[in-house]
Amino acid sequence: MPAPQCATCHKARAALRRPRSGRALCGACFCAAFEAEVLHTVVAGRLLPPGAVVAVGASGGKDSTVLAHVLQVLAPRLGISLRLVAVDEGIGGYRDAALAAVRRQAARWELPLTVVAYADLFGGWTMDAVARSTAGSGRSRACCTFCGVLRRRALEEGARLVGATHIVTGHNADDMAETVLMNFLRGDAARLARGGGLGSPGEGGALPRCRPLQLASQKEVVLYAHFRRLDYFSEECVYAPEAFRGHARHLLKLLEAARPSAVLDLVHSAERLALAPAARPPAPGACSRCGALASRALCQACALLDGLNRGRPRLAIGKGRRGLDEAGPPRDGEPERAPAPDAVPAF
Ligand code: SF4
Ligand code: ZN
Repeated sequence: MPAPQCATCHKARAALRRPRSGRALCGACFCAAFEAEVLHTVVAGRLLPPGAVVAVGASGGKDSTVLAHVLQVLAPRLGISLRLVAVDEGIGGYRDAALAAVRRQAARWELPLTVVAYADLFGGWTMDAVARSTAGSGRSRACCTFCGVLRRRALEEGARLVGATHIVTGHNADDMAETVLMNFLRGDAARLARGGGLGSPGEGGALPRCRPLQLASQKEVVLYAHFRRLDYFSEECVYAPEAFRGHARHLLKLLEAARPSAVLDLVHSAERLALAPAARPPAPGACSRCGALASRALCQACALLDGLNRGRPRLAIGKGRRGLDEAGPPRDGEPERAPAPDAVPAF
């Protein structure tokens, strides 16, 4: 059966059916619609004011690649300027290839790129060193816990280095739904309490952060990258397979098969969630070492580094620090997983 006509331009043949709406569109009309939706998310949510200097957490993966490309298209209309900030976690044989993709992107878009490395920021600790240090105690799970906390800190440092006023990350709706699901599964009220919305306004002196792709499905992010012919890195991190997030992802796929709106419903449920007073975490204070927001004496990054430096990394993620354990924290700028093979449907 020949492909139907595009439902928007009525000229070209449709090249895809939008996963949520079912509308048959040609590649050009789909990309224009995707960009318009991201623009609406940014404008309606007042995420990036005119004049903002925006640090894009660039990992070389599909999400941050699509985010940077769409913001590059929208920058003149939004009145913002962009800087790419990549984080080198020190994962041998993996991160170098991803960083090479970021460098190619920076050259293609003529955007300034700054790379910040864990080894430089955190007293010589790389993720490979963390993996060795935590080996034998659930290595991969612990790796992602350390990595997510440290990446958040590294991205903040990199953004300050380039004079950014705002940070954006490429999390899509599927990422956010996985996070919500994980927080429910862990009963993590603190993360649930601050997990909603499209970003954080920048408490405690931190730069404001937002996620302009938070309402875009992973499938459409892949489709956009496909039709815009974006060059991105799609291999999975060597420490990823055992992360708890993988279980949440699997569960979400099952839920989505039974109820296609499950992903967005979960994202919106986090926005509307109100915790009972007794369940609300205490207001955070300042880390006694670095001054960042902290719900204990030390912030998460300082507590994890402290545990590593004392040769007792499990102490920092054990029972005493509920919420840091094994679940894989928010993954700002994280290298993404490979797209599902069926992610680019064709007629
Ligand atoms: Fe870090 Fe992501 Fe690799 Fe985990 S999977 S170690 S969070 S890069
Ligand atoms: Zn600290």
